[in-house]
Amino acid sequence: MKNVIEIQHLSKSFGTHEVLKDIDFSVNKGEVVCVIGSSGSGKSTLLRCINLLERPSGGQIVYQGENILDNNHNINNYRTKLGMVFQSFNLFNNLNVLTNCIVGQTKVLKRSKSDAENVAMKYLKVVGLDRYINAKPHQLSGGQKQRVAIARALSMEPDVLLFDEPTSALDPEMVGEVLKVMKELAGTGLTMLIVTHEMEFAREVSDRVVFMDKGVIVEEGSPEQIFNHPQNERTKAFLKRTF
Ligand code: ADP
Ligand code: MG
Repeated sequence: MKNVIEIQHLSKSFGTHEVLKDIDFSVNKGEVVCVIGSSGSGKSTLLRCINLLERPSGGQIVYQGENILDNNHNINNYRTKLGMVFQSFNLFNNLNVLTNCIVGQTKVLKRSKSDAENVAMKYLKVVGLDRYINAKPHQLSGGQKQRVAIARALSMEPDVLLFDEPTSALDPEMVGEVLKVMKELAGTGLTMLIVTHEMEFAREVSDRVVFMDKGVIVEEGSPEQIFNHPQNERTKAFLKRTF
């Protein structure tokens, strides 16, 4: 299987606190990988290192055969290949829905406004919000905002979409609509790396589940392996607390 991103010996410390320890891990093309684990185990830091919101302290991130952490590597191209969906949406609040989905395309990818508009409309339809193009974020529910954020990320047509607990900030009644969109996307062959506490969702959509604890990958495998037959005591204890 062809990997999109391969991480080797990745580490990250904040001061003397080592938050990621010697992480080896890859995401293959078309694969949906869910990362689970207790709060504070380093899941967000792992995603933030992958998309370079944090500078890793050590190790390699190999993309298209090159270590993008090499000092002379042009990271701008790499950055455009990763889409990110945050827990807190991070929409541009002064811009309407359509413009939120266009600015990255015109500014970063240098697409024409009309091309960008067509692409944005395509993905706003996918998330079911093409009727809301003129709305401002404050006029939308949390679930709608997160779906705009997903459409915005999709509009950049990245190689991999990263999600950091995309439903954790939502009222319970809005979690379902966002998970439904993500499930549909997972079925289209998109490459997705998802940090989530939604265990039923992870079981249903994942090709692979990664369990992290205290900065290391403790165990990874198919949903069947991790949820039904966990091998490691830490995985077992986590699942016991969660279910
Ligand atoms: P998770 O997403 O699994 O809850 P995080 O990656 O957010 O875990 O955090 C892992 C650890 O790193 C926590 O102990 C957290 O306090 C620490 N941490 C995260 N970001 C920073 C930061 N910018 N500065 C200092 N410590 C941080
Ligand atoms: Mg987190």
